[in-house]
Amino acid sequence: VSEHGPHGLVAALKTIVGDDGVLVETHDIQPFRGDIGLTAADTDLIVVRPRSTDALSAIVKVCGMHGVAITPRGGGSGFCGGAVPSATGLNVVVSFERMRRIRAVDTVNDVLVVEAGCTLHDAQEAAKSAGRLLGVDHGGAGSSQIGGNLGTNAGGNNVLRYGMARDQVLGLEVVLADGSVISRLSPLRKSNVGYDLKQMFLGSEGTLGLITAATLRLRPAPVKRATACLAVESPEQALRFLDQGKLAFGESISAFELMSGAAVALHMKHAREDAWPGGEAVPWLILLEADSASSYFDLDAALTDLLDRTFESGLVKGGTVASSEAQRFKFWRIREGIASAMVATPGCLKSDTAVPISQIPQFIFDAGAAVKTLAPGCVPAPFGHLGDGNIHFNVLPPMGEPPELFQSKWKLIQAAIATVSLSLDGTVSAEHGIGLTKKAAMAEMMGPVEMHLMRSLKRAWDPYDTLNQGKLFE
Ligand SMILES: Cc1cc2nc3c(=O)[nH]c(=O)nc-3n(C[C@H](O)[C@H](O)[C@H](O)COP(=O)(O)OP(=O)(O)OC[C@H]3O[C@@H](n4cnc5c(N)ncnc54)[C@H](O)[C@@H]3O)c2cc1C
Repeated sequence: VSEHGPHGLVAALKTIVGDDGVLVETHDIQPFRGDIGLTAADTDLIVVRPRSTDALSAIVKVCGMHGVAITPRGGGSGFCGGAVPSATGLNVVVSFERMRRIRAVDTVNDVLVVEAGCTLHDAQEAAKSAGRLLGVDHGGAGSSQIGGNLGTNAGGNNVLRYGMARDQVLGLEVVLADGSVISRLSPLRKSNVGYDLKQMFLGSEGTLGLITAATLRLRPAPVKRATACLAVESPEQALRFLDQGKLAFGESISAFELMSGAAVALHMKHAREDAWPGGEAVPWLILLEADSASSYFDLDAALTDLLDRTFESGLVKGGTVASSEAQRFKFWRIREGIASAMVATPGCLKSDTAVPISQIPQFIFDAGAAVKTLAPGCVPAPFGHLGDGNIHFNVLPPMGEPPELFQSKWKLIQAAIATVSLSLDGTVSAEHGIGLTKKAAMAEMMGPVEMHLMRSLKRAWDPYDTLNQGKLFE
């Protein structure tokens, strides 16, 4: 902190965003201490809530003059500590909650221009009300913001069909570490002009720039959907079923989720439900969804044909087809409820790996063996987006054991899961990012050459290490 001290800084910030745009009182700043994955109890921080890109640019310049680190924060729904303020001293946490305008919904260019603080849910609704679809969806949609989704390159339920968050982005507006602004929000779908700079900000977790707005690609809204919740005996069979599903539906499969019996049972206990949607309790459930924006595509016929074939061959053991929107919602509540039940279960270890789809059965088998060796009696409860290779190999503490005991083994267990993933050509982070919690795993995966390139980029674009200090690497 410079000779102007924190007080001078607070005054300077207030001149930019007004008195109510700056929070310093203990109870006001409490919610800004981190995310779902991690919080920092006693970091010295000031929260600033700009309403415009120009105001944010001025804030960054003032922070630069005071030598104070900036931590960007979205909805705080991340799992890796990416929004935890830096531990090195006073921090300015930039909250985007007042920058949440939908700047344009353009159905000719098929884009949505949206500010970083808009929740994913509100952006989805804006697309929907214009008869379009935003291709990103996940359980944190209600609280997470567009800036956070782009900062982490979020994945979710529809990656199989529409790709990750970065695949929705046509343009970005970004405030850089020196306060200068890149404003390239054009809806262009083609533009080959050297390096694609916007890609550097997507998934960089606020370490290279602060995203203030984005131009997102819209798709035609589905007018038909087919959704089924089906029971199979193993991940191998789920994979075989996916293959059959692709034959029936072609590119219109939008979600293919896999849930272990342990994960579903946890949700049902948590939500106090007792009707098992797959019929008799079986080890694995699949949630399959296909949709079409064309009313000519007979999805029902495709589903009937698929189920006739796979029931007859014994591949599918039971299940239900959604006959109404309410039933579809119920299926999705199971899938999303698993993530919430796990967040609410003390000691539950969460992980986020992806392997090539063909390796998923091997991954689940090897990771299960590894965690049971390290923590006998623990209960693997894997689930996730099988259609894109992303399995959350989450693990419940052994029954009757204090969760803290299991928690003391988390690092070892997480390292073991990562080792299995890497041995199968997988990744240590599929969609949640690196933040603070996965830095060592990322370094191990990337190796010295790629880590050097990443550090060089950070040094070049943020030479004073102002933006989201200590995330991704020191
Ligand atoms: C029930 C539940 C289910 C979930 N399911 C999924 C899922 O299926 N797939 C998935 O990917 N995630 C999932 N998540 C995790 C989470 O919602 C995502 O990681 C989301 O992208 C985080 O957004 P946020 O706004 O909450 O970001 P935060 O947690 O606030 O921040 C995340 C990172 O982005 C940075 N950041 C925030 N705003 C900006 C900005 N404007 N500019 C630059 N950097 C910024 C932060 O510094 C931090 O590094 C789930 C969460 C919950 C609670």
